[in-house]
Amino acid sequence: MKKYDTIFLDRDGTLNFDPGFVQNVDQFKFYNFTIPALRILSEHGNRFCIVSNQSGVSRGLIDINDLREINSYIRREFIANQINLLEIYYCTDSPEKETNRRKPGTGMFLDAADDYNIELNKCLMIGDSEKDLIPAHNLGMDSMLVLTGNGHLTIDIIEPLDKPTFVVENILEGAKLLIKE
Ligand SMILES: [Mg+2]
Repeated sequence: MKKYDTIFLDRDGTLNFDPGFVQNVDQFKFYNFTIPALRILSEHGNRFCIVSNQSGVSRGLIDINDLREINSYIRREFIANQINLLEIYYCTDSPEKETNRRKPGTGMFLDAADDYNIELNKCLMIGDSEKDLIPAHNLGMDSMLVLTGNGHLTIDIIEPLDKPTFVVENILEGAKLLIKE
């Protein structure tokens, strides 16, 4: 497969079911194909960062401690499956008062690049929203749209400029495609 420096992952609708806001760890459910997909990519030497908008925190819908508990759960699952997760970046900004950290801003990606010496133009972003595709385009990354979550809606509204490098049904199909590239 093409060698990526790091694969960035959106969370909701890409790795797990997206009911709008995931409020606590009991509501967090990986798709059954997520861990197998990430294991395949791990076995090919890939490392990962999660980059996730979590405006529910500033909207008062998600307690920050519940978000941290979800992150701990994700880390444990990744470790148990030998998936090399560098970091979970999240942005709690509300859309009304957003900084460049909130996707489609590039802030979380730039933080990751600083923290882990990542060459962003050698990375891949996997997500279900145009908010995932826009920063990928702006940073010179490859992008993969999954049709889970909001992906089936996103595909109809993408600006030609932000057209993803790959479109796949889900992250497992994506993983299988990538290792054949
Ligand atoms: Mg998403």
